Amino acid sequence: QLIGVVREREGEPRVAATPDSVRALVRLGYRVVVEADAGTRAGFADAAYREAGAEVGDPLAADVVLSLGAPEAGRADGLREGQTWIGLLAPALSPDLLTDLAGRGVTALSMDAVPRISRAQSMDVLSSMANIAGYRAVIEAAHEFGRFFTGQVTAAGKVPPAQVLVAGAGVAGLAAIGAAGSLGAVVRATDPRPEVADQVASLGGEYLAVPDPSSNQAAQVSSDGYAKEMSDDYNARAAALYADTLPGVDVVVTTALIPGRPAPRLITAEMLATMAPGSVVVDMAAGTATDGGGNVEGSRPGERVVTENGVVLLGYTDLPARLPQQASRLYATNLVNLLTLLTPGKDGALALDHEDVVQRAVTVTQDGAVTWPPPPVQVS
Ligand code: NAD
Repeated sequence: QLIGVVREREGEPRVAATPDSVRALVRLGYRVVVEADAGTRAGFADAAYREAGAEVGDPLAADVVLSLGAPEAGRADGLREGQTWIGLLAPALSPDLLTDLAGRGVTALSMDAVPRISRAQSMDVLSSMANIAGYRAVIEAAHEFGRFFTGQVTAAGKVPPAQVLVAGAGVAGLAAIGAAGSLGAVVRATDPRPEVADQVASLGGEYLAVPDPSSNQAAQVSSDGYAKEMSDDYNARAAALYADTLPGVDVVVTTALIPGRPAPRLITAEMLATMAPGSVVVDMAAGTATDGGGNVEGSRPGERVVTENGVVLLGYTDLPARLPQQASRLYATNLVNLLTLLTPGKDGALALDHEDVVQRAVTVTQDGAVTWPPPPVQVS
């Protein structure tokens, strides 16, 4: 079968295949056609794809189309029955898209629907992008911050290390802890899941537990390893911890999300007012709270806001795309890993097996029907 790789819309520099991933797809038995200039913005020239064995041409003519997102408006019209579209389709937010694709007889596989089980980790785009985003959040903060992250003793004076606080120590938070620590900052991190303490420590950070008078913190964690919405009591104790800690903090990165719920508000305008001018707060949850903000009061998705007391508030929502080459490489590898699973014969023929929970979970339309949401999966 023929695999097509689209050039993404304006403003999306990532690409769903790299010359290396094309070689891997060819080894799986596929032919590959890449749209002209598809990888240019991520640093991959058409010539490099040709060298890897791809043709440059019309990706919509292919049997299987690889993309970062959904078909662009107007392009879906070119899709036909029997084609497969693989991308990040946000099925929970895109009922009309799914109905449209199903109506055209297109099989749609959504990379953001990969179940978060150990076996599927190599295809987990949410993790690979969160990792990049956490790293880039620190780079953005360092770029805004007017001082070194590292401490130094020099002839011109003693420089204290930057004090960094990371709220939420999941995939993105751990990447932020690693990046800030490797720049030399002193890093602390908090998360309602006490099991992250060891991971924080292994990256050189200090875990700040929200004090729990009932010492019943484990009860705050849902059975699948993800945080659930916290109690008012917990939130009040967490707010006191932030209020105590923030006056001495130079850089904050917030990453707190709760699956299926709006992002929690952790840091208020009042707390920001206690931070020194020139401090930087990166709200990685910007745009995902009920009011359109994020973990931090006053942050705006996609924007840089400066508070009255001079704290820089970054709400960038395109952090993975700000490292387009790295993001494309990891996304392309996630796709190759999925296609390896879907091509058991290495014969260039896609075969979907719905007995397999991973394949079932990612299939959001097939045979003219919307097949999302899938039956629940036991998370390991
Ligand atoms: P996420 O993006 O859903 O949330 C980010 C972090 O915010 C989490 O650590 C969460 O505990 C934290 N958080 C929630 N409410 C908070 C609050 N009120 N205050 C502070 N922090 C809060 O999580 P994620 O990064 O996708 O993953 C969480 C965990 O799931 C990972 O650490 C990992 O152990 C596991 N995971 C497993 C797989 C897999 O097996 N394939 C894949 C991804 C993640």
